[in-house]
Amino acid sequence: MINLKNQKAVITGASRGIGKSIAFKLAEHGCDLFLLSRTESTLNNVKNKILNQFNVKVECYATDTGNPKSVKKAFSEIISKYKKIDILVNNAGITRDNILIRMSEEEWETVINTNLTGYFNCCKAVIKQMIKQKHGRIINISSIIGLNGNSGQINYAASKAGIIGLTKSLSKEVGSRNITVNAIAPGFIQTEMTEKLDKINKEKFLNVIPLKCFGKPEDVANLVSFLASDNASYITGQTINIDGGIN
Ligand code: NDP
Repeated sequence: MINLKNQKAVITGASRGIGKSIAFKLAEHGCDLFLLSRTESTLNNVKNKILNQFNVKVECYATDTGNPKSVKKAFSEIISKYKKIDILVNNAGITRDNILIRMSEEEWETVINTNLTGYFNCCKAVIKQMIKQKHGRIINISSIIGLNGNSGQINYAASKAGIIGLTKSLSKEVGSRNITVNAIAPGFIQTEMTEKLDKINKEKFLNVIPLKCFGKPEDVANLVSFLASDNASYITGQTINIDGGIN
């Protein structure tokens, strides 16, 4: 049984898709939440739905995780108010797909900035507090694309592979402070991000998934809640695939 009562979690990209599902799952286990994304109105919708179902605290912070100033502002407000953050789920991510020959510098930089530098910004903003409290769980959402690569996604694949390197290195830096750092590499999960794919591409993916179905955001959320819990206290520096068996 997972119990996260009185724990405090920051979830980035919590306004929809996987991040929203993680927010619901952690709330179900009693965790108080700080929800981050760029759009306050959608965050507030998620907050209200959670408060209707669960007896937890929820606060929303309109934050661009790729912007260090915006990240520092949100985290220092949370830390000065509550004096602790137990769990950080780095989940905010974007795609700007193109083959290399057509990819603009802007498409490269935007994806690296949000998906990789954004995770760095949030880790940096939380780590002193976690060291001080001698406890912490950092869970970074990567992707199987970061492990396998994918044509048309060199920017996304590089960002997601970078997250795995960041995760392994940080786990070695802070393990002695009772902070675990793990990555999750989802395969094809049904969200707005993957809705953009055309029917032919979706069928192509489905054919290579041994379980013959796409994943749901809840599948990822279940793994996040396990990694955040005491049950996972001896797991760190790992990348766990959740991909219906592709890898
Ligand atoms: P969605 O596009 O559905 O949601 C992305 C979330 O990130 C939104 O809440 C969005 O909110 C937020 N976001 C985007 N850019 C920023 C930013 N600069 N600052 C703060 N928040 C931001 O994506 P998914 O739920 O599908 O994906 C979530 C994560 O899982 C991503 O990291 C993705 O790469 C990863 N993943 C997804 C897979 C899938 O199949 N869906 C597979 C493997 C990995 P807003 O626009 O309001 O800022």
